[in-house]
Amino acid sequence: MEEQKRTDVNTLGEFGLIEHLTKGFENKNESTIYGVGDDAAVIARDGDILTVVSTDMLMEGIHFDLAYTPLKHLGHKAISVNVSDIYAMNAIPEQVTVSIAISNRFSVEALEELYAGIRVACKDYNVDLVGGDTTSSIKGIAISVTAIGKVHKDKITYRNTAKPGDIICITGNVGAAYLGLQLLEREKQIFLENPEVKPDLDDQNYLVGRQLKPTARRDMIILFGKSKIVPTSMIDISDGVASELFHICKQSGVGAILEENGMPLHPKTEEMAFNFKMDPATVALSGGEDYELLFTIKPEDLEIIKYLPDIYISGDIVEKEEGIKLHTKGGNIHDLKAQGWKHFGKE
Ligand code: ADP
Ligand code: MG
Repeated sequence: MEEQKRTDVNTLGEFGLIEHLTKGFENKNESTIYGVGDDAAVIARDGDILTVVSTDMLMEGIHFDLAYTPLKHLGHKAISVNVSDIYAMNAIPEQVTVSIAISNRFSVEALEELYAGIRVACKDYNVDLVGGDTTSSIKGIAISVTAIGKVHKDKITYRNTAKPGDIICITGNVGAAYLGLQLLEREKQIFLENPEVKPDLDDQNYLVGRQLKPTARRDMIILFGKSKIVPTSMIDISDGVASELFHICKQSGVGAILEENGMPLHPKTEEMAFNFKMDPATVALSGGEDYELLFTIKPEDLEIIKYLPDIYISGDIVEKEEGIKLHTKGGNIHDLKAQGWKHFGKE
């Protein structure tokens, strides 16, 4: 018998795999404005309003560990990470569907906890839970959320529209969620080795909170609307600043110079990075799951952006030929390395 070819998915990586599987699919409907490749797909509806749709799946053991993730937080996070992709299109989410696969390990009470978190998130982001699917799994729990939003066609913001001369901005602060995860993992190891020791995370509420209960930046999209800002490109920070900037540059056909000094870091992030003997800049660039926004603006908009709260100027978009560089605090210029999260690698 002829031997079947077997290629390990890791040879392609997550994005290579998506590209490989979806190539050759051509959009047949005029209403499909943008398909695979951005934070959300874009679909025409009436007149000038567009629909945006995004789906994400969270798998137990890959995306979360129930040893330290309360189900209520997990429910909230599942909604946050999805609406974050809608905000990344400069759109406002309005509906979500939630699908779950559950093993018999999960009681009704446990699932009520999950849905309590989903309920709070639906309130926080003003979205309606309109459906989903429920099925069994042999082992563990998986949650898949689809978010649907809308945006005026003049405001939709893609990843592939940054231009040389544009200014790179980051909201909030980055790296905190990654360190929160390191703290939770460390406490889990201590607990496994010595179950009598009580977790000592009281001091680290901020970092742990950024990991367990991230907030998608609805406020920023509202602020852009009020300030009459339409970013020239945008992406949410799920995999880390470096990796997200690579997506924008690759898809826009541009280069970038990122300022190490322009990485917004919370004081707790700096402190804990030193405790872990990690470089805070590396944590900021390669840590993930902050669900902040990375976006670019036209230079003329700098005068407005400068005065808006919680937005940090982090670099410049340049010609493609100049590459994607990091301007370090010491004044050196290096190639930027994108080391995003690789969930395949974690399995
Ligand atoms: P994000 O990190 O913003 O959620 P992803 O990296 O998950 O985005 O996905 C990138 C793009 O690839 C999106 O347009 C997404 O809809 C699409 N995509 C991801 N997985 C698949 C799949 N299995 N089949 C078709 N499209 C996919
Ligand atoms: Mg995204």
